[in-house]
Amino acid sequence: MRSKIYCLGSGSKGNSYAVDDGRSVLLLEAGLPAPKILSGYRELLPRVAGCLITHEHMDHAKGAAELARRGIPLYLSDGTRNGIKNIQNPYALHTVRAYEPFHLYGQEEVLWTVLPWEAQHDAAEPLGFLIQSRTTGEKLLFATDTDFIPNAFRELNIIMIECNYSNHLIDRAVEEGYTPASAAARIRNTHFALHDVKAMLAANDLSQVSHIYLLHVSAANGSKQLFEEEIRAFTGIPVTVF
Ligand SMILES: [Zn+2]
Ligand SMILES: [Zn+2]
Repeated sequence: MRSKIYCLGSGSKGNSYAVDDGRSVLLLEAGLPAPKILSGYRELLPRVAGCLITHEHMDHAKGAAELARRGIPLYLSDGTRNGIKNIQNPYALHTVRAYEPFHLYGQEEVLWTVLPWEAQHDAAEPLGFLIQSRTTGEKLLFATDTDFIPNAFRELNIIMIECNYSNHLIDRAVEEGYTPASAAARIRNTHFALHDVKAMLAANDLSQVSHIYLLHVSAANGSKQLFEEEIRAFTGIPVTVF
């Protein structure tokens, strides 16, 4: 069986995703209020193994402390953990580091293997994640809020990747006054663009990729429809934009 991907929110207003491999569920980000996450994934909760968090910005970590308080194990870098306020339940916190793989366990068996990698973002210690389900064997790349992806990955099956803006649309948004020039400069240095997504996809072996999910599209500087069409045409692989 193939993994199912769910999304309750994507973008600067809040990110929350879930991967269900049929046996276990992994939450990705906690950037919405915890009650929204808990009710949105109500049916999946009994099978949730944990929640991976890339960095401490509110749109990725707003609900994190409350999820930990409710006993959902969080996996995050030390820098991210220090950046989240009111995080208290030490039993639910697992500090992870770039390039040190870790496992999430069920009843004495490994359910997921995760390799964190170093993201490039204006946060304390941001990470991306290469995630493998031990049930389906599928490999999923999760990459958001990064200016650059420092690795190529082998045998990916699912790609969840930020596609924040395009040069053309961000230039136009600055010209028309929707995006201040200073904000545009920050976005260019800290977020993944349409041309970055294409370069990354060109650098990786896509022969086993069944689906590409585009994340964190900017309302002012991006276009869901255009990005979906461009990446589908570029790869020939089904694309969903969250
Ligand atoms: Zn973000
Ligand atoms: Zn961020």
